This record gives sequence, structure tokens and C-alpha cells, in this order.
Amino acid sequence: MKVYYPTFYDKFNCRASRCAHSCCRGWEIDIDEETAKKYLGFPPPLGERLRDAIAFDGETYSFRLTGDGRCPFLNGAGLCDIIAERGKDALCEICREHPRFYEFIGDSELRGLGLSCEEATALLLGEKTLRFTDGENEYDLPALIEKVAGKRMPRKATFSPPSHPETLRAVLELFSKTEPIDEMWTRELDELRRAFSTTVRAVRSFAPICERAAYERIFQYILYRQLDRIGETSLPRLTRYAAVSACFIFILDACGRGTAQAARRFSEQIEYSAENTQIIINGILGNTAQI
Ligand code: SF4
Repeated sequence: MKVYYPTFYDKFNCRASRCAHSCCRGWEIDIDEETAKKYLGFPPPLGERLRDAIAFDGETYSFRLTGDGRCPFLNGAGLCDIIAERGKDALCEICREHPRFYEFIGDSELRGLGLSCEEATALLLGEKTLRFTDGENEYDLPALIEKVAGKRMPRKATFSPPSHPETLRAVLELFSKTEPIDEMWTRELDELRRAFSTTVRAVRSFAPICERAAYERIFQYILYRQLDRIGETSLPRLTRYAAVSACFIFILDACGRGTAQAARRFSEQIEYSAENTQIIINGILGNTAQI
């Protein structure tokens, strides 16, 4: 199997206690069965804490989060008590692998770093161009797609800032159909739709000053992550999904969230939920079709 990954992949280092949006809070953390069984057999005092903190619903083991949605082993210094006591090798699969993702297409493996992680987003935004490698050769995205899927990227597949109010409205409507990751998500979208004329003004004044090249990388990287769907969903449709998603990030950015935070929020809401990703893919008709 040939493995491909973005050239910034090997530069990744978790920010740990310096991370403002730790992945150890805000979402469910499932524990793979092998590790859960190991945890349940640990001697006290860590074993006792683990036994109290692990839930099992008959199928899946997971950590019982604290009232404010944190992993119970994330300590006050922003570090992990399991690592502190047992080292990194004691982590369950999700904690060990995050934010890495692995997608498969034919006999190729596509690796990457999920944009929900602020360090991954910083690496993508810090690159001049988005390139991929198999360890020997480098490829831009169209060349990679041709290599792994034998398909040509649509000629017009490039990011362009949205401007038409009906397009903006359609993008916001589409994203508000997804299952919200938290209350803040719903509040932010409601606000952007409620103060719609302000949103339109913000987007229009941001378009001439935004960093187009950064948006091109975001657009291409979003498409890269979904390439494993190319058998079931056509490449033009996946390309539109990426374009609409980049537009959504653009709207958040234009309204003051900042590019990195906007991309991070998009990713944790959409890319980590197969259902939400599918809602966007299925919904790119009507007024978003012109994007
Ligand atoms: S979000 Fe990324 S940088 Fe932050 S703690 Fe998680 S893996 Fe580390």
C-alpha cells in the first residue's frame, strides 16, 4: 500500500498545556476495548480513578466527562494524568492518534491532520503551498487525485469568495441543518442569520483583503480529507462540498472569528461527524450550486 500525506504532516507536535482549544474537552472520548480492559485492571490509585471514570453502554467504553465537558484526566495544568503516571504508551487509540486521520482509496492510504486541532490548522495556514508526498515524490492536489483515483479535478475547481446575499444565506441555512456540536454553534449561526445584512457587509468588505492563497489551501485540504468517498460521490460533487465548506469558513472569518478559529470550528462540527459531512454533501444544490 502506498502512503501519501501533506508535507507538513511530520512537523506536527501537540501543544499540550499551551493549547487553547484542547481536544481533551468538548466532545465524547471513546476508549478502544483493548485499552479499556487494560485500564480497568490497573492497580490503585490510578486504576481506581479509571474504574470510576469509564462508562460502558453495552457496546462502547468511554470516559465520563466532567460537568464542564472535560476529560476527567485533564489536570489543572492542561496535561494528562494518564501520561503523567504511565507515559504516552498507556493512552487509548483515539488519544494516541488524534489529530491524525487515515483514509483509504484503492490501494492508497491518505494521511493527514484534522483541522479541529489548532496546531494542525496553524501548520496548514503556515505553508506557502499545499503539497503532498509519498516519501519520495511531491504532488499538488490535482496530481495526487490523478495518481490515486485516476480522475481529473474539475478545471474551475478553485476557491472564490462568496458575495451574492442569496448564496451566503443558502450556505448559512445548509450548515444550520447539521447536528450542533455545542450550544455555541447554534447561537453563532442564529446570530449570523439574524443580523444578515451585517453578515453580508462583513463578507463583502473582507473579500478584497482576505488571504486568497490561504483559502485555496483550506479548500483543497477539505477536499483531500473526503477523497475516500470518490467511489460513492462524484469528484465534482466533492469539490463543491469543499468549496461550500471553505465559503462557510470565509463567512465566519469575515465576521471576526479569524481564519484559524473558523477552520477549526468547521472541522470539529463537520469533519468529525460522518452524518454532518453527508448533510453538506447532500445539500449542495440550489443557491450554493453557483459557488
Ligand atoms: S487540539 Fe491539537 S495541539 Fe491541542 S491538545 Fe489536542 S492534539 Fe494537542
